[in-house]
Amino acid sequence: MNISTINADLHSHSNHSDGTLLPEQVVERAHQQGVTLMALTDHDELRGVYAAKARAEELGIAFVTGLEISVTWQSTTLHILGLRVQLDCEELQSGIKKIRLDRVARAKEISSSLDRLGIEGAYEEVSNLVTHKDLIARPHFARLLVRRKICSSFKEAFQRYLGIGRPAYIPHTWASLQEAIDWIRLAGGVAVLAHPGRYKLDSQKRNLLLSFFCSLGGEGIEVVSGTHTTAECQIFAALAYKFGLKGSRGSDFHEIGGPVELGRMPNLPDFVSPVWENWNIPGHKKI
Ligand code: AMP
Ligand code: MN
Ligand code: MN
Ligand code: MN
Repeated sequence: MNISTINADLHSHSNHSDGTLLPEQVVERAHQQGVTLMALTDHDELRGVYAAKARAEELGIAFVTGLEISVTWQSTTLHILGLRVQLDCEELQSGIKKIRLDRVARAKEISSSLDRLGIEGAYEEVSNLVTHKDLIARPHFARLLVRRKICSSFKEAFQRYLGIGRPAYIPHTWASLQEAIDWIRLAGGVAVLAHPGRYKLDSQKRNLLLSFFCSLGGEGIEVVSGTHTTAECQIFAALAYKFGLKGSRGSDFHEIGGPVELGRMPNLPDFVSPVWENWNIPGHKKI
């Protein structure tokens, strides 16, 4: 077996953040799709990992702990995946708890903006549906707008109300890049820059970000993402090589019927070292 071509999916969400499935259902679906190595990476949240790990053990699918930390770098929101983190790390746990507390205040502000647009009671409705009252994300509001038939799709909800610069968009400052990477490293994990194709950065600023990321101890980049085009996979494979970063592969699955499916992405190009290369995954021998 070539370790580069295993069906690894190291980016997925459950209803512990803005996904819709239970953690164990995400694992079951990954298994059905032929994924043999996976991580559940909820936003600023680790509480779903326990149930996912238990189900992965039952099904015999290799599982690593993970999360996706929200970061602000030079006014841009970035997402940093922490893979193989220890769950009992005080610094990581208190760091993400603070992010979640700030999410509550932000969710109330989003709701106030919607109120002013005549869409009332959004915070109350959303907070009654979420798994954790301190983990409310924009997709929860997007689903409310679709449920109330104010928008016909999730995408439209972002385009009309919740996306950057739209009337219910609340600018927010998340953790710093240094904080996120420090917490992940203190927890013994690997920091990976998630879906780099989604950030609106010109190539000069992207290079600046990648050198800074490396200087802080970042080790990987999500070369293959469910949200990347083939051209973007190639660009980020070349950048992984240039900056000496390991490559990761993840769908960013959130829900059944959404834009991406678990485990259905191209493989990492073989000149990129996979982030899982030396993980000694049961059943996955390096050749
Ligand atoms: P938040 O962390 O609350 O800002 O929510 C961010 C999440 O919203 C992302 O992880 C995506 O799941 C989703 N999202 C962000 N922008 C869009 C968009 N334009 N269209 C659809 N989903 C989006
Ligand atoms: Mn999300
Ligand atoms: Mn993300
Ligand atoms: Mn994600």
